[in-house]
Amino acid sequence: MPITPDQQAEIDELRANPKPTLRAVAEGMEGHLYKAYDVLDHGFIRVIDYMGDDAAICQAARVSYGKGTKSVQNDEGLIRYLMRHWHSTPFEMCEIKLHVKLPVFVARQWIRHRTANVNEYSARYSILDREFYIPEPDKLAAQSVINNQGRGEALTGEEAARVLEYLKGDAARCYDHYAEMISDDGQQGLARELARMNLPANIYTQWYWKVDLHNLFHFLRLRADSHAQYEIRVYADEICKVVADWVPAAYGAFEDYRMGGATLSSKAIDCVRRMLKGEEVTQETSGMSKGEWREFEGIIG
Ligand SMILES: Cc1cc2nc3c(=O)[nH]c(=O)nc-3n(C[C@H](O)[C@H](O)[C@H](O)COP(=O)(O)OP(=O)(O)OC[C@H]3O[C@@H](n4cnc5c(N)ncnc54)[C@H](O)[C@@H]3O)c2cc1C
Repeated sequence: MPITPDQQAEIDELRANPKPTLRAVAEGMEGHLYKAYDVLDHGFIRVIDYMGDDAAICQAARVSYGKGTKSVQNDEGLIRYLMRHWHSTPFEMCEIKLHVKLPVFVARQWIRHRTANVNEYSARYSILDREFYIPEPDKLAAQSVINNQGRGEALTGEEAARVLEYLKGDAARCYDHYAEMISDDGQQGLARELARMNLPANIYTQWYWKVDLHNLFHFLRLRADSHAQYEIRVYADEICKVVADWVPAAYGAFEDYRMGGATLSSKAIDCVRRMLKGEEVTQETSGMSKGEWREFEGIIG
């Protein structure tokens, strides 16, 4: 269960007690504060706190004494300019703090993003919950034959049933042994910090994760992308929805320039120019490798 009734009651109590503030408030984000959004079978993301809004980006860019905003169009134009020209520091003025519950193997990918502040649930002090990520049948896929880093068609029939059985059975057996080893009922009981080594990588962990908007965009660019593993992508997709409400202008620029945009090499730009002049350019005459050409064709359609 992603959130227990007791945890939900704590969240409801926080939401029922708003406090006045002189700080900038992003209306779109206030609706998300503290709420948990389910991800995978037992995971979630929820916003614990945030700082700044679209105007804060402009305020920093203009090094303003006041609000720093001019008009909505003017601010949006400035934000798009900053994004287009990689002026990243104004985006660092906004921050978000998330509470994330995620499987350990997803956490290993996530933690590679070093430009964030993390505090993880301690399995030295605490006992981990008996919760494991078990993929939905359509996500239980075979190794991709075209991409060593990806997955292909979903497993079917007896193989799918057997794999599911292994995942569930192995996790249950490991957890049973974990619980038995840490128990001090009639025995000394193994330290939690040691017993946890027996747990599988699909067990859930939790952390608080704080990051500024520039580095969050970098994370989302990589992890809300089709090349990212499905199990981390669903977290990134959920965060994208929150960010779109928090800083709509910045998120719009990010979607346009980063998610939807592409970087072209000088060779690729040269090819586009030659094509616009009517020349039929092929991979052999492009000066690009086969891989580069394939990606280039993907961009220009
Ligand atoms: C699809 C995909 C596949 C991947 N496959 C693998 C894999 O097979 N093996 C693997 O090990 N990793 C893999 N990764 C992880 C990847 O290599 C990066 O570690 C991860 O995406 C974090 O990116 P980052 O370092 O840019 O982010 P951050 O750590 O958030 O850093 C942001 C930026 O800050 C700068 N920075 C941060 N710390 C330093 C530093 N110490 N020194 C210099 N500059 C720094 C860099 O410019 C960096 O780009 C994969 C990632 C993706 C998205």
